[in-house]
This record gives sequence, C-alpha cells and structure tokens, in this order.
Amino acid sequence: VTDRLYLDAPELLEFDASVRAVRALGDHPAVVLDRTAFYPEGGGQPADRGDLGGVPVVDVQEVDGEVLHALAGPAPSGAVHGRVDGARRRDHLQQHHGQHLLSAAFEAALQARTLSFHLGAEVSSIDLDVPAARLDAAALRAVEARVNELVFRDLPVTARDFSPEELAALPLRREAMKGARVVVVGDAASGGIVDASPCGGTHPRRTGEVGAVALLRALRWGQGARVEFVCGGRTVRLLAELQERLARAAEHLRCAAAEVADAARRTTEDLAARRKEAEKLALALADGEAARLAAGAVRPAAAGGPVVRAVLVPPGGGAAAWLRGVAGGLAARGCTALLGAVEDGKGFLCFARPRGPGPAMGELLREAVALLGGKGGGAPDLAQGGGPDGSRLEAALEAAAARLPP
Ligand SMILES: [Zn+2]
Repeated sequence: VTDRLYLDAPELLEFDASVRAVRALGDHPAVVLDRTAFYPEGGGQPADRGDLGGVPVVDVQEVDGEVLHALAGPAPSGAVHGRVDGARRRDHLQQHHGQHLLSAAFEAALQARTLSFHLGAEVSSIDLDVPAARLDAAALRAVEARVNELVFRDLPVTARDFSPEELAALPLRREAMKGARVVVVGDAASGGIVDASPCGGTHPRRTGEVGAVALLRALRWGQGARVEFVCGGRTVRLLAELQERLARAAEHLRCAAAEVADAARRTTEDLAARRKEAEKLALALADGEAARLAAGAVRPAAAGGPVVRAVLVPPGGGAAAWLRGVAGGLAARGCTALLGAVEDGKGFLCFARPRGPGPAMGELLREAVALLGGKGGGAPDLAQGGGPDGSRLEAALEAAAARLPP
C-alpha cells in the first residue's frame, strides 16, 4: 500500500521513494511507489503533474487501490526522486478549498446545497439546488463577501481521519462517501467550526492560502443553478485579462475605460437610427427608379399592365433588397416587373405585378431562376430568388418574358 504523503503534508512537493511495481495506464508505463506526494485525480480535483527521476509524470490515477504514476518515458526502477509541479498543485488547492468555503457560504446565506463541483481549466463551477432566479447580482455579491470573509480571517483548516465519536459531534455539511477523512474549517476548541465536509483532496493549513474568491455568474442548470467562480491566482489573472479587454474596447470606442458601457449604448443607438434612415433613403431611391422605369414602359400587357424588363445596377450592396424595392414601386404603378441584377457574380431576380388576377409570378420565377442554377419563389404578385450563375441573367429574364401572355 502506498503511503499517501499529500494527505498529511499537502505542502510537500519533493520526496524520495522506491518503485514497487510497473504497470500501464493508457499507452504509458505507470509506476507504483512505496510513498508518493502526487495526488491522483479524485473528488473533483485533477491529478498532479511533475516528474519522477526526471521523467515527466503525465497523469496520476487510482486503479484498484493503487496509485499509478503514468510516465512520458521509460519507467525508472529502485530509488527515485519525485517532484510535484507546485504551481499546478497550488492552483488546484486554491480552487478546491475555495469551493469548500463557497459551498459553506451558499448554505449559510441561502440554504443552497452544493450538488457537484467542476474544476475547469479557466473557471470552476458548483451546481446548487436553488433556482438561478434567486441568484441575482445582489445575492452573488452577498455570498462573495461572506466567502472572502472566511478567507481573510485566515481560519485554521484540519484535514484528517476522525473517530466515529468525533464524527458524530461534527456538523457535517454532507454525508461521508468513503473513509472517515473530513476537512474542518475553523477552530473546534473555541466552538467556531465554519464548515465540516468529508473529502480526500489536498487542502491548505489555513483559509488565507485560497486568496480572493470572485463569483462570475449564475446560470440555469436543470431545476437548479450553476455558479462560476475563480480563486487565488486565477482571480488576479482574470482581472488582468478583463482590464486588457476593457482597454481594447475603450480604444475602439475612443472613450475612457469607465465610460465604455455608456459609449457602447450610444454607438448602438446611433447605429440603429442611421440604419433606419438609410433604409428610408434606399426605399425613396428605389421608388424613384421605379417611377423612371414606369414612365419608359411601352409594351402593354393584356393583364398585369405594361411589362418592364430590365437588368439593374443597385446603387450600393444588397441587390435583392434593391430589386424588391424597385419591383414593388413598378407594381404599385400598374406595371409588371421582370427585374434582375448581378452581385459578386451571382444573379438575382425579382418579379412583381399589380394585385388581382394575372400570371403567377412565383411559378414564373421558379423556372427562370433555375437557369441561374438557384432557387426562389413567392406569391402570385411578388416573387424573388437568386442563383450562382449571374452570366445567364439576360437569358433568364427573356425566358420569363416569353412565358407572359401576349
Ligand atoms: Zn474537498
């Protein structure tokens, strides 16, 4: 049985051990040691990394009661010196113990029970048994203040096996899963136990090691809520990242960082107003084009008025909208419109006629647009579509004109 040094000495990062057996984990050779400071993945805490005798440890898993250290190279034999990646261990310890404190704070503040915990690469999260609607910004800030209070008080943390008598006296936050190991936050002697939770993970000696805890957001998660958070070093990194993003946004908006929200709102409102204005102008322009074309229309049609067949050049981008505007203007003036335009090599068609009885524009267009290799359709009095082959636009319009009743 491997002596698990990380249980009683979570700060121990270097150790000497002997290789007891060599097994395999995935594609890697994996050694079993007589003692180890490497934490195997479990309880929501990822496995440690580091090296054994200079060979990188790529994973640590518990399999059938053995701690397997998967290696990137050939397994050493005999005595070996182990080194745990301290930065990674501290990061996991901060997120993991931060979760214990956060779960205690949610329970104390909102009677919200923690159902699960995920230690992510960027942010971590806990799932709670309360609806997300209860976790508005004010509630999150209140819990955040509470959990940071636990950190700043730098309370003692005890992680060890407790006797059945001791266990019975502890205010356990949840049932023990296996073993009698419990993480107790606070001083039992002075009657100030803040949290007691069964756990086999690595924990600090004092809560201060967790560093500042920041709650990021609450999301709906089934019937409950998922709360994302960061602790310690991640809080500092995230703050720097957000500052950087804010500075970039401020630069683009040409304003001070503190004014980004107002500037973004003003820019969005301004953009919407200008878009509306542009649409109005485009409509007026299309109507003017329709009036010009209607005045020049000569060929009368038995039903549907004079026919205007034309290939148009839209004044800006958006051939489809331009054709629809002009065709609508022509139909309103009693004409039948067979219009086309080419944009980026693609062909666009729009057919329209006055309302009432007359040839079906939808059918007419479906046939014509097939010549462009595309699709389209519409109502009896207005139809449009487009296809990739803009070079056959004239042929498509001619075919449609030929199908109109004389
Ligand atoms: Zn834990």
